[in-house]
Parts: sequence; structure tokens; C-alpha cells
Amino acid sequence: MFHIATEAEIKSGKITDVYFTHTVKILKEKGIKSRATAEVMLKGFPPDWSWGVLAGIEELAYLLEGLPINVYSMEEGSLFQPFQPLVVLEGRYLDYAIYETPLLGILCQASGIATKASRCKKAAADKPVISFGARRMHPALAPMIERNAFIGGCDGVAVVKSGELIGEVPRGTIPHSLILMMGDPVEVMQAFHQLIDPAVKRIALIDTFSDEKLGAIKIAQAMGDDLFAVRLDTPSSRRGDMLQILEEVRWELDYRGFNRIKLFVSGGLDECKISRLNKAADAYGVGTSISNAPVVNFSFDIVEIDGQPLAKKGKCSGAKKLLRCDNCQKTVVLPSHTASDSCPTCAAPYRSLLTPLIKDGKLVRKLPKPQAIRQYVLNQLAETDCIF
Ligand SMILES: [Zn+2]
Repeated sequence: MFHIATEAEIKSGKITDVYFTHTVKILKEKGIKSRATAEVMLKGFPPDWSWGVLAGIEELAYLLEGLPINVYSMEEGSLFQPFQPLVVLEGRYLDYAIYETPLLGILCQASGIATKASRCKKAAADKPVISFGARRMHPALAPMIERNAFIGGCDGVAVVKSGELIGEVPRGTIPHSLILMMGDPVEVMQAFHQLIDPAVKRIALIDTFSDEKLGAIKIAQAMGDDLFAVRLDTPSSRRGDMLQILEEVRWELDYRGFNRIKLFVSGGLDECKISRLNKAADAYGVGTSISNAPVVNFSFDIVEIDGQPLAKKGKCSGAKKLLRCDNCQKTVVLPSHTASDSCPTCAAPYRSLLTPLIKDGKLVRKLPKPQAIRQYVLNQLAETDCIF
């Protein structure tokens, strides 16, 4: 059997740290049924990150739906900063205590992957970034990983099941193994062209055996206009300067009139490498750096019990509002009892970023499709500075 939890085990609260089970037992025995407000918040990003993309909200709704609680959250795909309440739970604490472990697990990993994908996409600007990293993680997680890579800004996913989940045709090129099996890269590409759906772009892998430049010229001459791109997956031991390799291949292709053939790069990429290669590369396959993205270390803390502000040290107590002035592009956190709902700078009405997700156990928000979330992320990225 696979060493994974079933949906029923996750939904029933079996994936919880045992101290929550003990907590609930004690609260029940002692008759403590107080209502508590608890919030998901981040204290600090992984090194170099200055914003995050909130992801995992659809799975969070699936996890918490049916519990006798209210849940508020930012929209999935929202860019966030530290010290903002991003998800708020209201209800009897003993009704939701055991879900802290899975709810954080969902949000921390999903948001880490989505944020890393966003950073890669931001670095690539208008050039496509395809998620290639499923193979680095447990297969049970592949659809989750690739969905979050996609909503973070990746243009496509590689795994068949991931494509089904998000409603996108999976994308890929050619593995080195096919070239090893058939021997000749040109023969492989001709077979691909003959046998694979014409809707699939013809991208030739050029560096299995030969030099990138010679491989590119040879396949371009053999395939002509049928070839969409050449893919460089140069091993790190042979790379030297990847940008220079790309520029040389570009020169040689252009010199022979193959200006239209694009350069697709893969292998060990992240946002810093993409940023450097972007003047020569046309598309990227990004694997490990996205699928194994750092998690966002959200915490989940009680801030109010039976209407009274109460929090552990290091956390701000009391229920809060998260408000946005779309005019000044500023987001503020205010006590929930604050009357003022307009921006003090420009007097425009604030927009509340925490909106109902679950009311008394019922899902009350229409959850957007991955394509809409991705577009929302891209719109925000366009207005965001990014430091590499
Ligand atoms: Zn304002």
C-alpha cells in the first residue's frame, strides 16, 4: 500500500498532532465549550521573499466544510504580507482544534509552491513556464503540487492527472529515454511528428548525445517549419555558461533562417536563473525549485475567546479586519470593532479582504476555477515589484 492518508482519514481529523486529541478530550471532560476566534498568519517569509501567494483555499474549504463553524478568508491567489490575518475560524474551539494540523499543512505547502511559481513566472515575464517537478515529490501530491504551480503563474503542467484536475491539456516534450531507445534524435522527432496529435507542439530535445549547436542545426534542417522549438536540458557538468550556449544556438539558427524556432530550457532552473537566461530563452520547464518550494510558515492562533481579546505573547489579540484601499493600493489590519471603513488618506471606501467561505458548516463562496485564480495572480504580479 502507499503510505498516504485517505480523504476520509483527513476529513475525520485523524491527521492531527496527538496533543490536539488530548486537548479536545480535556475540554470535553471539563465542559469547556467556549467559542474561540483563531487566525492564520505569517510572521516572516523564507529568505529573499517579500510577498506570498495565498493558495490551498479550495482544499481548506473541503477540509472544514460540515464543521459547525464559520470560516473567513482572503481569495485564493491573493498576494499577502506578514502579520495579516489570512484565514479566520470562528466557533467552539473543541469543534475545530484537531484541524489545525491539516489546515496548516494544506495552506503552508500550497502557498509555498504558488509563491515560488509566481516568482519564476515574474522572472520569465511573458515567456511560458511549465511545471516539470512532479517526479521530485510523492505521486499522491502531484495534482496538488501542479495545481498550485499553475495558479501561481505556470503556463502548463506536465502530469496527466494534474491536467485533468485543473482542466488543462498536460504539456511535455520528449524524454532522453526515447532518444536512447531509438538512437537518432532526428528519427525520434520524425516519429513524434508522424504519430502524436498535431495539436502538440513539436519540441526537439537536442543535447542527449551531441553538441547543442550542432543538434539544433541538424533537427532544424530536418524538420523545417514543423519544428516549434528545441529544448536544451544540458547537464550541469557540461553547462559552463548556459546563457552563452543559448545565445550561440540562437545565432546559428538565425543565421540559417530558423528565426522562428524557439529555445526551451530545462534543468535545475529557479527564478534567479530564469532572470539571467530570459534575454535568450523563450520558454522554461521548471522542476524541483517549484515542487520542492519552501513552505510558508503560517501559524494558527487563538486571538479571542467568548468575545474577549486573548492571545499568546508574540501575537496581537482580538478579531481583526483586513481592509484594502484600492485607490492607494494599501492594505491595513484594524480591530474588528473599528467603525471607520474608509481610507484615511484618500477617503475611498475600504474593501474587506476577509470574506465568508463557510457559514455554519456550509460553503457560501463560489470557488473560482484555477484559470481565474491564475489570472488574478498574474494581474497582481504585474503591479508588484520583485527583487532577485
Ligand atoms: Zn486610500
